[in-house]
Amino acid sequence: MAVFKLDNVEDLYEIGDVLGSGHFGQVREVRERLTGTLWAGKFLKLQRSVGSRFGLERKSVEQEVEILQSLQHQNVMALKDVFESRAEVVLIVELIRGGELFDFIAEKENLMESEAIDFLKQILQGVCYMHSKQIGHFDLKPENIMLLVKHAPSPDIKIIDFGMAHRFIQGVEYRSMGGTPQYIAPEIINFEPLSTAADMWLSGLSPFQGETDEETLKNIVAMSYVFEPHYFSQTSSMAKDFIQKLLTKDQRERMTAEDCLIHPWIKPLTKTQMARRNRSSINMKYFKRFNAKRKWKMSYNMVSACNRLYKLKLVCKTGAVDKQDLRECESDQEDTETKTVSLLRRRLSSSS
Ligand code: ATP
Repeated sequence: MAVFKLDNVEDLYEIGDVLGSGHFGQVREVRERLTGTLWAGKFLKLQRSVGSRFGLERKSVEQEVEILQSLQHQNVMALKDVFESRAEVVLIVELIRGGELFDFIAEKENLMESEAIDFLKQILQGVCYMHSKQIGHFDLKPENIMLLVKHAPSPDIKIIDFGMAHRFIQGVEYRSMGGTPQYIAPEIINFEPLSTAADMWLSGLSPFQGETDEETLKNIVAMSYVFEPHYFSQTSSMAKDFIQKLLTKDQRERMTAEDCLIHPWIKPLTKTQMARRNRSSINMKYFKRFNAKRKWKMSYNMVSACNRLYKLKLVCKTGAVDKQDLRECESDQEDTETKTVSLLRRRLSSSS
């Protein structure tokens, strides 16, 4: 069982700026007092009482910690230490300074497919390693693929956020409703028994994107997608073949991470394949547009959650919203979600 230290984290680490936030807390830069080394601290709020809908169940934090403890790979965020107080658990993890991979790419004017493949290969290596340990991530999306540092000749990829990860046990079925609509696999929407194949339903550009989350989910189940010419006109046929082999509804037919690593688009077999790949580029104009839209959707979700909370608090308390309320807006959001958005919820899962 995962061991959580009971020391006060602030005795050992100086708490710094906020680096990001998720549904159940914040991630902040922290400095180890003894050595001066910088880390990231992921502060997760715990449920205040059994059955409470605020915060996380301790069991689910234990699961995240146990999974992180068992993963040591260059492309997976490393866990150093875990602290627990009455109200929260703090995970001390490797500090990742390079931001999101998609933001890094969106700043570029040109990107050759071969450069994109170098990044993709690293993601696949991390995923292949996890899957070899029977661990599924279940929330692979652009926000969870980061760069260790930005300004390096070939930046290292780090996969983060194992909050929805699951370790498969032979003979035990696992179903989950968690995930983000644009990136969710059909077997998740259909609440079928899952496997690590759900992580392989990857398409950065989410060709299923509908006007609403409901429409997106319908498109996925109906396998309704097209390679829109304005996104894919400069894309090589090998790249399209690669994407199609991942967007396969039957999870048993879908490429595994291991298969991907030997697909000719990732590992060309002939000089012609290599040359074709090197001639193709990513359509940056549309990539930038896609990334801006993705970011806008993320902030829209955050703002509307805060607005809902604000109204809720006004009704409940008749008092003003203080800073703590705003900090809690993401975890409180759980209580006000609608049916479709409940697919976004973390850890709505079952084993049978
Ligand atoms: P979610 O609500 O998506 O499940 P979460 O509460 O599990 O999120 P994370 O996704 O792990 O939290 O982290 C939230 C944000 O904090 C990330 O999007 C990222 O910007 C930042 N972050 C996470 N881990 C690190 C890290 N190790 N170094 C630097 N920043 C990080």
